[in-house]
Amino acid sequence: MASEEVDIQAGLSLIRRRRWYVWMVILVYFPATWLTLELTQSYRSTGVVFGVWFVFLCATITLYGVIRCPQCGKYFHMRNSTLSFARSCRHCGLTLKGENAPAK
Ligand SMILES: [Zn+2]
Repeated sequence: MASEEVDIQAGLSLIRRRRWYVWMVILVYFPATWLTLELTQSYRSTGVVFGVWFVFLCATITLYGVIRCPQCGKYFHMRNSTLSFARSCRHCGLTLKGENAPAK
């Protein structure tokens, strides 16, 4: 495997990992707030948990949005000011599997 191919696979691995971080933060929202409300019976505590969750969501979305494509070097998920959850680069069309698809 060529060095360039290794770099692309490592970059794609990082992109996949960051996508999973976003999904994990989203999926943890309901159980965390429900459990907090059940255990504390306090809307204030639930609000604090929501605030912490929201900070994590903003951080993971930011990390997700600014990751660069290992093939073209541009933002993988962003084009202009729009963010996409597509599974391919918005500039060169590189997919998460490492294949080249036409850019959208
Ligand atoms: Zn690209």
